[in-house]
Amino acid sequence: MGINGKILVFVDLPGGELDETGRGLLSYGARLAGILDAPWGAVTVPQPDSSQLDAFGSYGTPTITALPDCEALLDTPALLGKALARAAREELAQVVILPHNDLGTSLAPAVAQELDAALITELVTARQSEDGVRLSRRALGLRIAETRIWDGSRPLVATVPPRFLSQVLMPTVRSTTPAVAVWRSAAPITGAAATVTGRIPPDPQTVDLTEAEVIFSVGKGCDPATFEQFKELCRLLNVSYGVTRPVYDLGWTGFERMVGQTGRTVTPRLYVALGISGSMHHVGGIKDSRRIVAVNLDSKAPIFPNVDEGFVADLKEVLPRLLTQVKAANGGAP
Ligand SMILES: Cc1cc2nc3c(=O)[nH]c(=O)nc-3n(C[C@H](O)[C@H](O)[C@H](O)COP(=O)(O)OP(=O)(O)OC[C@H]3O[C@@H](n4cnc5c(N)ncnc54)[C@H](O)[C@@H]3O)c2cc1C
Repeated sequence: MGINGKILVFVDLPGGELDETGRGLLSYGARLAGILDAPWGAVTVPQPDSSQLDAFGSYGTPTITALPDCEALLDTPALLGKALARAAREELAQVVILPHNDLGTSLAPAVAQELDAALITELVTARQSEDGVRLSRRALGLRIAETRIWDGSRPLVATVPPRFLSQVLMPTVRSTTPAVAVWRSAAPITGAAATVTGRIPPDPQTVDLTEAEVIFSVGKGCDPATFEQFKELCRLLNVSYGVTRPVYDLGWTGFERMVGQTGRTVTPRLYVALGISGSMHHVGGIKDSRRIVAVNLDSKAPIFPNVDEGFVADLKEVLPRLLTQVKAANGGAP
């Protein structure tokens, strides 16, 4: 089954940048277009400037539909969703791809409602089959794996997890000069717009580990004293912390901090494993991290073949030295 419409990927430009999520979406769009044998393009809010166009081009973006009038609606997904849906309809889009982040998950239902489209969240892969397009999703921090079939009778709106996007990120070998079209709504988009008075970023100390950007974890290689130093280090570095099962079993943390196959499956940008042997039950929960660094006393510890960088060292020496250095870098602040 081919699809008879265009694939549109929604890219906002936070801080005027085509960030990693945006680049991942472009890679994803190109890949999906290949799988579904369909044309694709980006829809952007706001309009990219000339310097940003090169970045879009380096991901092979053939067309950009810019919605410059909609920048003020970024904080009002119900209204931006209406605009996006109208633009998608005029572009004859059959698939709209959004990031599975705060903005994308708020926009997706609004766009789907306007387009009377099927909606799937946390989509990772799609493949053609006899009965339709098989869509695989990995939901709830990759804990749920599920496949659904989209028969193409209605448009499809899908969100894709940013963690997955960063894995497919791949500049195309054939760069393009995107054709840019500016879209303006023929009819006014009415409704009450939100006024944002402030934004609170997630606190790494309390954020769910499945959402954490940087995680330091300790295993049985620590004792009560080094565990306290480890927690202090995480606090000073403002990173999230996790533990292995034996440390959880000691009652030193809640279950939500246990990383591994029965604990949290994590996908951070950086995972630092301290005094962790690297059992399959633990490694199974961290293997999709972008970069893994390990410190272990035993040069033959099974963790080492699974890491990007490994250090044979004693936590009893490493942690106090790291703490001293971090405190010095912080200007001696407690
Ligand atoms: C069904 C099942 C499910 C499981 N699920 C999970 C799970 O979700 N998550 C999980 O973590 N485990 C899980 N486990 C347990 C798992 O099999 C391992 O036992 C566990 O991961 C080992 O934890 P560890 O690396 O902290 O301890 P150990 O295997 O005891 O390793 C400690 C490591 O610390 C190093 N070390 C010691 N002293 C120092 C020092 N001073 N400095 C530096 N390094 C030092 C040692 O060389 C060693 O490699 C599960 C087990 C089962 C049976």
